[in-house]
Amino acid sequence: MRLVIKIGTSTLVHSNGKPNIRHLERLCRVVADLKNAGHELVLVSSGAIAMGMGKLGLKFRPEDMPGKQATAAVGQCELMYAYDKLFSEYNHTVAQILITGDDFEEANRRFNFRNTVFRLLESGVLPIVNENDTVSTDEISVGDNDTLAALVSKSVQAELLVLLSDIDGLYTSDPSEDSNAQLISEVTELSGGIIAAAGGSGKLGTGGMETKLKAAAICMENGIDMVIANGGNPDLLYGILENKKIGTRFIASK
Ligand code: ADP
Repeated sequence: MRLVIKIGTSTLVHSNGKPNIRHLERLCRVVADLKNAGHELVLVSSGAIAMGMGKLGLKFRPEDMPGKQATAAVGQCELMYAYDKLFSEYNHTVAQILITGDDFEEANRRFNFRNTVFRLLESGVLPIVNENDTVSTDEISVGDNDTLAALVSKSVQAELLVLLSDIDGLYTSDPSEDSNAQLISEVTELSGGIIAAAGGSGKLGTGGMETKLKAAAICMENGIDMVIANGGNPDLLYGILENKKIGTRFIASK
């Protein structure tokens, strides 16, 4: 199966911006194993700004554009260093791909991106994609990695997108505010009720559930299933590939 896995900031880094080594190690082990089993994988990884904050000792996320972009530039290095090191332990090679929203707008660039990913997959390499924060501006950026992961999934003709978050899936309301919130295990249509459920946004990560529904819309329109699951337990990926009832599955009509 060809699948895209997006890892959210809150899974990758602790709230102080330092890497969450336990999550990173588990994730890389499972992803390496899925590749060994013959699946084709593409990772979309957030976390550059948060990692940069940790590395630079910043207590607060920079507000200004150059500050954010400089922090991302430092953090992207740190992020890829961590992936390279961990995947090397399982004899897997990683490749960094940094893109912006307009790379998907223009046919030529979209085509180049897709061909590069296909060649990397053929060569057994794991592409790790992130938004090119250093050159991105509001006008040209995708803006969030949930949507970016959906655009990547569409572009590389993936069968499934898995969004690994700090929560088990989409709930009827934000569980951090409502103790009666219930997990929604299956969505076949993005109805008003579902959209209303995804009201609040997240913490260190930027999008919360709103951007995840945007991603689901892109996937479902393009015949790609999408699952939101808890990145704290990457072993869930095995069950997700076996179609087990894990997290929230958005089922595309095929
Ligand atoms: P990431 O992008 O790292 O996955 P986010 O912090 O952006 O993480 O998104 C996950 C967060 O979204 C959850 O921790 C939760 O606080 C918030 N959230 C808001 N509404 C909901 C909802 N209906 N169901 C689940 N989580 C929700």
